[in-house]
Amino acid sequence: MPDRSFLAWPFFEDRHRAFAGELEAWCAKNLPVDHHDVDAACRTLVQKLGRDGWLAPTAIDLANPQALDVRTLCIARETLARHDGLADFAFAMQGLGTGALSLFGTPEQQQWLASTRAGKAISAFALSEPRSGSDVAAMDMTATRDGNDYLLSGEKTWISNGGIADLYVVFARTGEAPGAKGISAFLVPADTKGLVIAERLEVMAPHPLARLAFESARVPGSAMIGKPGEGFRIAMSVLDVFRSTVGAAALGFAWRALEESVRRARERSLFGAPMAELQMVQGHIADMALDVDAAALLVYRAAWTKDSGAARVTREAAMAKIFATDTAQAVIDRAVQLHGGDGVRRGHIVESLYREIRALRIYEGASDVQKVVIARQVLGS
Ligand SMILES: Cc1cc2nc3c(=O)[nH]c(=O)nc-3n(C[C@H](O)[C@H](O)[C@H](O)COP(=O)(O)OP(=O)(O)OC[C@H]3O[C@@H](n4cnc5c(N)ncnc54)[C@H](O)[C@@H]3O)c2cc1C
Repeated sequence: MPDRSFLAWPFFEDRHRAFAGELEAWCAKNLPVDHHDVDAACRTLVQKLGRDGWLAPTAIDLANPQALDVRTLCIARETLARHDGLADFAFAMQGLGTGALSLFGTPEQQQWLASTRAGKAISAFALSEPRSGSDVAAMDMTATRDGNDYLLSGEKTWISNGGIADLYVVFARTGEAPGAKGISAFLVPADTKGLVIAERLEVMAPHPLARLAFESARVPGSAMIGKPGEGFRIAMSVLDVFRSTVGAAALGFAWRALEESVRRARERSLFGAPMAELQMVQGHIADMALDVDAAALLVYRAAWTKDSGAARVTREAAMAKIFATDTAQAVIDRAVQLHGGDGVRRGHIVESLYREIRALRIYEGASDVQKVVIARQVLGS
């Protein structure tokens, strides 16, 4: 049984503890899934998670609209990631892809949310471009007014769920002002004419990922989310909610690496005694446990701060993300070391964790960018 003592921390309420316990039981029964065909695996995961109610926290419920609960999102990601990275991915993208609709959508746009929460529609968040990843404000893609419509032209890349999504939230330059103030957000159904999956991208921890081309793709004026020129603010508000959850996923990977290492240290005998009796092994285990607990504190502090009504948690979320993802990388590296040859054997759990963790230090704001964010806040105050 994994260490769940953190649930007793004052950041949580009884409903979080109940959610964690029930999801843990669901994961034990349903995960991991076969990753051989990632598109099929993701579709199945979204359907199953939706069918059994686990996607409900990813977007607002129109019948009972309440703010997204970041602690629930974090517990879900941490738990799913501990069992299966692809399950965490499937869950996370339903939230990131629809975040702009939950926070800024019109009632008509929000009709999609019933389907994404039920696992009947898959969503994607299309911000990055070949020339603008970290530097979002440098984006090239345009949305040009044509009567009551907009014509979207340009490219998006590294789009998770690209190729299997039913809806994309797309950011494009509408030109109200230069840079960040001239970008708007649009809801673009996958069957929009002129939206093309230009390339499927292969990465070290495979999941559905694509480069998208928009060839004068026509959307009605009502597809705009928020007001003209608000796109950058919308994207940052969405990331403000979901950035801490990336830290939570990293925490799940790190926790699993620690669990596997403890099992290995107890079960394997070296030089006539259990490996766990070697002091340097104990040193690794202690460092791993320390990193995991410190990351958990930062992740759940950020989530609790947001849920407690803070307008923005830029600093807390940046700290949670950078610390949890960077230390998870170090924790998993120690786990690989403690597993010897098995640790680098393809298909071994710690080998897959080693690949799964890497991209989390790059997407939704690379670690270096988080440092800039933290420094600005600290120096500014
Ligand atoms: C697996 C994966 C999934 C992704 N999913 C999505 C998605 O669903 N939707 C989406 O829109 N995007 C997605 N992305 C894109 C991701 O957000 C970008 O890759 C990320 O923002 C970095 O942009 P870039 O790749 O263009 O690198 P660059 O912007 O070129 O940055 C490269 C490196 O430069 C350094 N750097 C950048 N800025 C600074 C700075 N200010 N100070 C110091 N150092 C800096 C960092 O080390 C950074 O890693 C995904 C990426 C990956 C790898």
